[in-house]
Formats: sequence, structure tokens, C-alpha cells
Amino acid sequence: MKKLLLVLFLIMSVQLSAKELISLRGNPVQGGILICKTDSSIEKLFLDHIEIFIFENRAILGFDRDAKLRHVLTFVMKSGEMITTKFYLTKREYETQRIDDIPPEYLEDPTDPDVINRIEREYSTMQDIRKNIHNNQFIYLDDFRIPVENGEVTGVFGSNRILNGITVSPHNGLDIAAPKGTDIFAMTTGIVALTGNYYYNGKFVLIDHGGGLSSIYIHMSELSVKKGDYILKGEKIGEVGSSGRSTGDHLHWGAGWKDKRIDPELLPEMDDVFLKIQKR
Ligand SMILES: [Zn+2]
Repeated sequence: MKKLLLVLFLIMSVQLSAKELISLRGNPVQGGILICKTDSSIEKLFLDHIEIFIFENRAILGFDRDAKLRHVLTFVMKSGEMITTKFYLTKREYETQRIDDIPPEYLEDPTDPDVINRIEREYSTMQDIRKNIHNNQFIYLDDFRIPVENGEVTGVFGSNRILNGITVSPHNGLDIAAPKGTDIFAMTTGIVALTGNYYYNGKFVLIDHGGGLSSIYIHMSELSVKKGDYILKGEKIGEVGSSGRSTGDHLHWGAGWKDKRIDPELLPEMDDVFLKIQKR
């Protein structure tokens, strides 16, 4: 009995210390992020053995659409001690969206060599900029808001899509239909990493929120910001339109954490998270 009590005490003390080391807000689900407040006794933080930068006692963890459910957090303390804990995400079910009346030209790949070159150039510019975002150690973000008011959600994150009978890649953002010219606001504070008028995206704004987190707003009719601008949460960045490869006026709102796709719809609805943290 004495032995059992001692073991219980040891497990409890580890759980308590883990909770004191880190507090979390967010959505512990596939496609979610967790915003961590770390105790100043922590020197380094690792998610699944990959280092996550800590900036002013904050760090961000992200999980893509199909992320595995079990994850490992490792804290390296300033004292040199190492604490490893595990936690689990909740699995999500994604809906299937079937649309059969899309004009065929919206689904065909371009064949004009000039257009193909343009698409390749735009893709590689976007990749270079995203690499900078992934490695940015600053964190700018505040809490989150939806970028368009009074819009109608016409496409959700993660849905399996069958367009004119052909299975295409899952939808990676949130589509919000709204009249042309409707204001679009930044979902949270950040720095404009790139703007442009691309073949697929049309007019777009990509924002670096720090800690590996980014957001993108595409198919706009007007842009009101430029690369390098510091944008506060809720500041206007442009207007809804149908530029690029789009079949009607709407905002496609995407979010990413490093190279993972995040469900933007979850961001404005964050809760305190109490993970069942246990020593491995
Ligand atoms: Zn979309």
C-alpha cells in the first residue's frame, strides 16, 4: 500500500509540474493550433522531437488535416533537466462536397507555355516567402476574428471534393461568399509577407503572424495593403471579389502553420486546453 501511494504521488507530481510548465489555448484537433505560454524555466521546447521556437514565453503548435493523434512534447529546462510528455488530438470527420455544374474551363490545366511558366514562377515565389515565414522566430499574433462580416460559408476546411465527377484535392480553407467590394479584415496581427495577382489566387494577401503561423486571403477585387506593412487584427486588407480561378464573388481564407494546413474557422473559437499530460 505504501508503495502504491508513493507511485501515485510521483505520477501526480509530474502531472502538476507539466501543467505549471505550459498553459495552452486553442483547438486540440486535427487542423487546429495550440498557443502555448511557457514558464521562464524552460530553455527549449520540442514537438515530436522538432524544436519549436519560444518567443517572449510564447510558442505555437499546429496540426494538419490528417495529423496523427498522438504527440510528444519535450521540455528542456534551464537547469538541464528534460521532461517528456504525450498528448492526444481529437480525430475529425470531413464532409464530401459534390459539385456537378462547374464550367469545364475552371477545372482544366492550362496548356499555353507562357501561362505554365507564369504559374511555375508564382509557385516558386510563394514557396520562398513561406520558407521565411516558417523560420520566423517572432510572434505578432493577437486573438482571432473572422475576416468577412455577414458572409455565407460555402465551403469548409478539409472537405473531400468531387467536381464534375472527378475527385480533386481536399479543400484547404474556408470559403465565405459575400458581395463584391465587401471589406476583408486581417484575422489577427502580423506583417504582410506577400501580395500579388496570381493565375490561380487572383489578387491575394499573405500575412505572417509569427511563430510559423500565416493566413492567406485570395480572389480579392482590391488590395489595400502592400508587402512589409504591419497590420493589426481587424485592419482592412482588401475587398471581396472573384479574381483568379474563381466561379463567383467570395473570399477563400486559408491558414497555415509551417507546412501544415490549418482550419481557419477554428481560430476565432479558442478555449483554454487542459491536456492530460503525463510523463511518458
Ligand atoms: Zn476555397
